[in-house]
Amino acid sequence: MKAVLDHVGIAVERLDEALAFYRDALGLDVSVPEDVATQRVRAHMLDTGPAALELLEATAADSPIAAFVGKRGPGLHHVTLRVEDLPAALRQLAARGVRLIDSTPRPGAHGSQIAFIHPSATHGVLVELKQAPPLALRLATATIPWGDLTLTTVHDGPFRLDGGAMFGVVPKPLWEKLSPADDRNRIQMAMRPLLVESSWGRMLVDCGVGGKMPDKARDIYALDRTVHLDHALAEYRLDAAAIDVVLATHLHFDHFGGATMRGPQGLVPRFPNARYLIRDAEWEDATHPHERNRASYLQDDFVPLLPAGVVDFYTGDITVKPGVRVVRTGGHTGQHQIVYLESGGKTAVFAADLVPTTSHLQDPWVMGYDLFPMEAMAFKKRFLREAIDREYLVFFEHDPLVAAGFIREREGKRFVEQVL
Ligand SMILES: [Zn+2]
Ligand SMILES: [Zn+2]
Repeated sequence: MKAVLDHVGIAVERLDEALAFYRDALGLDVSVPEDVATQRVRAHMLDTGPAALELLEATAADSPIAAFVGKRGPGLHHVTLRVEDLPAALRQLAARGVRLIDSTPRPGAHGSQIAFIHPSATHGVLVELKQAPPLALRLATATIPWGDLTLTTVHDGPFRLDGGAMFGVVPKPLWEKLSPADDRNRIQMAMRPLLVESSWGRMLVDCGVGGKMPDKARDIYALDRTVHLDHALAEYRLDAAAIDVVLATHLHFDHFGGATMRGPQGLVPRFPNARYLIRDAEWEDATHPHERNRASYLQDDFVPLLPAGVVDFYTGDITVKPGVRVVRTGGHTGQHQIVYLESGGKTAVFAADLVPTTSHLQDPWVMGYDLFPMEAMAFKKRFLREAIDREYLVFFEHDPLVAAGFIREREGKRFVEQVL
């Protein structure tokens, strides 16, 4: 069994006084607190390198932390060691006669599994064993009514992109805590187009990668096509023929590769009854790629739409359908745009590659993929302020877990309150 130090837990009596020392005097970074309901405790993690400090605050009088502080006063509460396979570790310890508090794992903070060893076996220290959560992925569909619109998050399966490229100049020790990398430095992502339904019809905002990718690209991007957009639509008894409009945020393969498919006669529109709404200037850029963006603009994804006569070009920021408005952000690509969904006095925004995941909530965390990073950052900074202050429901197209949520800010820290 290999066990590494994960964190040291400190029971506190007065959180504000503890923060005055650890955060203000020592200058440590405190993450958003997490409540562990079963323990009636609120945990505040302090960033101290590979292993952390955890301040534990009781949230009820019958909390084990309240009992601990009542008996011994505040102080060192437990040491947590991380193991790869917690059930195996517990079996191994039990076989050696080690006294355990938990003989089977139970849920801990942030999706982890935990178990405590009895202090009588550990020479007076409460030892917690922890198994980190697996690289997480949640591919789910869900619907929310939005005034005259109905918004349904669908998906076109998972993929992975290089973590370094996804976080630009942000050093790996910072981003990998939020988005763990695999052995090829890739992070887990998803492709989540948005289905918008109204009296005017059914629109897909972006349409995923589709099924045309060759094996080599499937391997590079970890494209797993076991479940994809057809399955997600089928959950609502819909298929490609039921889509009336496909709107592109931009023409990168992970957003618009699903626009075409290979038929017996070659490449054809994937949605046989749909009009495809494409910003004219984005089409110009995509059909005239250069060395830097050629790998993202795959001509087969969109060029065949033109002879098929299914493209409606438009210019500038317009309302494409009642309640659906596009706004150019630039930054990521010259003409990258986000989509405002406004009805019944409420605003939702499909943020596309402006805020691709919930790990991108800090203003300067823009992607290495962005062609114009300073422009991306300036727009994102304004947008995030607006989204927080006006409580927009934000759709995260590439997040592996969260399809949509409200961005909140507490004590200068941003986090997402998940809705879908
Ligand atoms: Zn893109
Ligand atoms: Zn993308």
